[in-house]
Amino acid sequence: MFWKTFLHLVIIILLTIVTQVGGIIYLITILFIGKKKSKKQIKRLSVFTALYLTATFLIIPNIAPFFGREKIKETQHLKAHSLFYKLANRNYVKPALNKSLNEISIAFEKQQNGIQLVYLDANFPFIDKFPLLPHLSHNDGKKIDVSLIYEKQNGEGTNMKKSISGYGVFETPKKTETNQNNICKSKGYWQYDFPKYLTLGTVNSTLKLSEKGTSKLAREILKHKNIGKVFIEPHLKNRLRLTNNKVRFHGCQAVRHDDHIHFQLN
Ligand SMILES: [Zn+2]
Repeated sequence: MFWKTFLHLVIIILLTIVTQVGGIIYLITILFIGKKKSKKQIKRLSVFTALYLTATFLIIPNIAPFFGREKIKETQHLKAHSLFYKLANRNYVKPALNKSLNEISIAFEKQQNGIQLVYLDANFPFIDKFPLLPHLSHNDGKKIDVSLIYEKQNGEGTNMKKSISGYGVFETPKKTETNQNNICKSKGYWQYDFPKYLTLGTVNSTLKLSEKGTSKLAREILKHKNIGKVFIEPHLKNRLRLTNNKVRFHGCQAVRHDDHIHFQLN
């Protein structure tokens, strides 16, 4: 009995951390399908799946606006890196950020024919200060992470990325560049390169960073007056010559930003 309750509790906490609403939906499911029901495991799994998918794709997108956030409107120029971000409700932003994302993706695609703006973690649909782990700051609808831009060996731009999750494959500093990872590690910030454990596997290893593409994307983001801060690792900031003072260092208490770009509303 104790272990069963404990296991339910662990599942509720994990689902809440990963998807915000999954824990509550799981709780409703186990209360609804009591322990006396026959084949309760299969029934619980199917009821949970049905409720979760209905909530995620039909209900939440319609009620989140009442709480000040919207689901990111995808277009042919603006896409999630994988279904996971949408399935886990990690794709919500304030309306102003939704508008900026759309405009940035259109302007960027005009310069980089066919290259999309690919987003990673944004925010959950509800409750300010509810963090979207592992990002403590993605808790107010104002934050978003987007992928770097890559090119093939022949220099041709591509929408492919190098990490399955979207995080953790770093564009490491050259010998002559600032190695912020070493600096932060030497100060005892052990978590600084933690995303290396979050790749879920690496793919397309022959791709290289498109400095031109990534620099153009950063410049499009910086053009937007309502974007207040952009985080990218110091050596990439220098390499891409991003001198705008909105481009800041996020601090050693965060994680390294040479696998993605983070930006946020004022
Ligand atoms: Zn971020």
